[in-house]
Amino acid sequence: MTVFDPRQRHTLAGRITIGLYRIGQAINHLLRQRGEARRLSPAQIQALLFLKYARPGVRTIGGLAARLGTTYATASGVADALEHKQLARRQPLPTDRRTVTLTLTEMGETECRELEDVLDTIEAAIADLTPTDQEALLRATQAIVRRLQEAGLVQVYEMCWGCQFFRPYAHPDDPAGPHHCAFVDAPLPEAQTYLECPDFLPRGPE
Ligand code: SF4
Repeated sequence: MTVFDPRQRHTLAGRITIGLYRIGQAINHLLRQRGEARRLSPAQIQALLFLKYARPGVRTIGGLAARLGTTYATASGVADALEHKQLARRQPLPTDRRTVTLTLTEMGETECRELEDVLDTIEAAIADLTPTDQEALLRATQAIVRRLQEAGLVQVYEMCWGCQFFRPYAHPDDPAGPHHCAFVDAPLPEAQTYLECPDFLPRGPE
């Protein structure tokens, strides 16, 4: 069933699917609009923000490919374009010189400061909802992302759900911290499980 199938409007799930599709369109529009103004493609904008916030060990072409959901060759092309624009440079990781990482240049850092608010319009629309609706929306979107991750449709990267220290629902009676991080040996609130973490270690094969 496509999102344009009118039958979808007759179910709540179908109407929400169309709503999410519209939000996706708005995000693409914001990225394209900002990119046109700054001569950057949407992938280049996402790559710059990835380089700003990811920890050094994952700022590789492979890490970038995982973040963008593209092939290694496509991510390498994005890195080439950023190097050509003098926004990023390839350099060996100091702790393992066989690993080539991507680092923002000073110009790249400046560019990031101009890009960080690119989704503010979406955030402002969400901030207008009541706190109760925001909580419900957060829980719902997290559950949807988790299902899409399990289906291999989105790559949730550097977050608790793929980390070997993560113990989901270890504290089922504690709504403020239902999960547990074995690395810091502390309860984890649901919202924090979707943030990038410098201590993330990927889970091995089940
Ligand atoms: S180490 Fe970080 S990513 Fe892993 S479970 Fe703990 S908080 Fe989550």
